Amino acid sequence: MERHAVIEIGQDLITITHRPDTVFVSGQGAWLTDEGGKRHLDLVQGWAVNSLGHSPALITQALLAQSQRLLNPSPAYYNRPLLDLARRLVEVSCFDRVFLASSGAEANEGAVKLARRWGSRMRGGAHEIIGFEQAFHGRTLAMMSASGKPGWGDLYPPMPGGFVKARFNDLASVEHAMTPRTAAVMIELVQGEAGVVVADRGFVRELRALTAERGVLLIADEVQTGIGRCGHAFAYEHFGIEPDVMTLAKGMGGGVPLAALLCKEAFNCFLPGDQGGTFCGNPLMAAVGLAVVNEVCREEFLAGVRERAAQLSAGLQAIARDHGLVGERGLGLLRALVLPSDNANEVVAAAQALAPVGLLLNAPRPHLIRLMPALNISAAELNEGLALLRRALRQVLG
Ligand SMILES: *Cc1c(COP(=O)(O)O)cnc(C)c1O
Repeated sequence: MERHAVIEIGQDLITITHRPDTVFVSGQGAWLTDEGGKRHLDLVQGWAVNSLGHSPALITQALLAQSQRLLNPSPAYYNRPLLDLARRLVEVSCFDRVFLASSGAEANEGAVKLARRWGSRMRGGAHEIIGFEQAFHGRTLAMMSASGKPGWGDLYPPMPGGFVKARFNDLASVEHAMTPRTAAVMIELVQGEAGVVVADRGFVRELRALTAERGVLLIADEVQTGIGRCGHAFAYEHFGIEPDVMTLAKGMGGGVPLAALLCKEAFNCFLPGDQGGTFCGNPLMAAVGLAVVNEVCREEFLAGVRERAAQLSAGLQAIARDHGLVGERGLGLLRALVLPSDNANEVVAAAQALAPVGLLLNAPRPHLIRLMPALNISAAELNEGLALLRRALRQVLG
């Protein structure tokens, strides 16, 4: 078919969402540059993916070195970066075993499979997974069922079954949902897509006790919260608990597709052939993950994240006071500013349109601005971001 003379941006893509007409061509640290040469301070960072900012030398060097050494010998064989990253993850976490994958949804699918395998072998066929209202676990069919996003339960019927919902921060509703069929409870310790809703510490500790007492697995979906994002290597540390199973993705790859499923030795129950994937454990991505984990999970680095988090929180509180907003919330460098009305999308657009430099923000809910800067953003860059945010808010809210 003949092409139109003028090619509109995105005309060749299957339509999945609304995007601004900006084409980004390069990124460095906290900054992105578009085709027109305009720079944007990026507080989205690929949805909390670029933990070390755009194109850090640590990652480009790991990619270059590994790409020249070995791309993929197949998951049927061991490779050195796979073994080294697994070892490092075991060292920095409370877990004993690791499976690498490429996306958060894929890691979560693995967690559900592991729970069902364990339920079928150890708990008389228990297979149900209790999740939470408003939760987000990814976009595969099963993870849409596992998520609690309104409308997702029947978007592509028939949806996979075996997923039950409880109310977040409500232990009685979890107890109510628990039956002999329950294999696991799956939770985001900070619900990201729901609007950066931090679980109550007491609730998480009681949930840990309840699941242990009932012999039900506790799966922490740390796809967004893990690897330094919340000021600790893992968010579960903040709550003073140890899950049985955990999933990681986003920030662990620092921008490349990499995910992990981790479990305690007692739940290492896949039989040969139960789980796999062509790209699972490929050395190219594992080499990047190793570089990221080595950098982020150092105590000095994590202390820096907590410092920037305190700065961001204080800055957002000041903005909320000055503009008469509801407030701010979050854990570490995963934070949200709560607006009094549903114009978060307007603020996002106004922020990106600022000149001479734009500001990139995310609005997971109509009244909410989410901020997920690079974990190594400088204090000066963060202050510049806060100043730009004030300008965008003044334009939209007056
Ligand atoms: C982003 C996210 C996922 C899905 O990860 P993908 O890599 O997009 O599949 C799952 N769980 C949580 C908590 C997330 O934030």
